[in-house]
Amino acid sequence: MFVFQISNILKSILPIIIIIFVHTKKLKLKKEVLDKGFIEVLDKLGTDLTVVNSARVSFGKRKEKFDDNDRKLVKFLAKNKHWSPFRHLMVQFHVKAPEFVMRQWYKHVVGIETSSSSSAKDHAWNEISGRYVPVSDFYVPSNWRRQSKDNKQASEGSIDDQKIAGKIFESAMSDILDSYNKLLEAGVAKEQARMILPLNQYTEVYWTASFQAIMNFIELRDEDTAQWEIREYAIAMKELMHEIFPEITGIWFEVNSH
Ligand SMILES: Cc1cc2nc3c(=O)[nH]c(=O)nc-3n(C[C@H](O)[C@H](O)[C@H](O)COP(=O)(O)OP(=O)(O)OC[C@H]3O[C@@H](n4cnc5c(N)ncnc54)[C@H](O)[C@@H]3O)c2cc1C
Repeated sequence: MFVFQISNILKSILPIIIIIFVHTKKLKLKKEVLDKGFIEVLDKLGTDLTVVNSARVSFGKRKEKFDDNDRKLVKFLAKNKHWSPFRHLMVQFHVKAPEFVMRQWYKHVVGIETSSSSSAKDHAWNEISGRYVPVSDFYVPSNWRRQSKDNKQASEGSIDDQKIAGKIFESAMSDILDSYNKLLEAGVAKEQARMILPLNQYTEVYWTASFQAIMNFIELRDEDTAQWEIREYAIAMKELMHEIFPEITGIWFEVNSH
């Protein structure tokens, strides 16, 4: 009798467990990037249909299922730079990346602007504070790239002596970490002790942006002239966008692939 009751209870709550599991799994899309970084989708607004319904409101129309006519409409919108319907899709990401990557990311002000009081820009960048949390993770490259000969800001291939570069890096990191920890032990505030930390320190942000702003980020950063490390994030982000908005992302890249 008792076993029967338990199995009945389980049967009745199973659909709820499945819904919670699917929902959590859907939103917990996460890609590992570099040695300790990641991009995770925390939340999203809209579906593939959102773009076409936002465009069709002009005719007072709305659809429930994405079909071939919608594909044609999205293609038309993307080709002819009717971008406002793409701004109704929003994604909130949790990103862990080295500081030098975040500095480059931060230049993408549409979607993240925090310094201007202009109401035309979003305020959607929040970052972990080295004033509260001691810095503990540092990026260690797996390849030491050679300085490019024709592009002053770029790199190419690998240097021959990987070991020597690794040794120099390790020794500098060990000295820096030792000094950072000693400053903390001496009672120095984290906000000051962090001044000696290098740009490979990992930082974490929540970044929320529209589909259009995210595509702009990917187009500029998944590109030959972008630094390899930020490119890895752009590639991971592109994969996540294909997963959460498969139709719209696919068409966008079909139309905008050069
Ligand atoms: C390979 C590479 C190298 C770079 N090197 C440097 C560097 O050495 N130094 C440096 O400082 N930066 C550098 N950048 C950053 C670059 O200058 C841009 O700031 C960054 O790529 C953000 O691009 P964005 O302006 O399109 O993005 P967002 O700021 O997100 O803007 C998105 C779009 O909105 C529009 N927009 C934004 N603001 C305005 C505005 N005020 N008025 C009108 N339209 C607007 C534009 O169409 C813009 O493309 C580099 C970027 C790349 C990809």
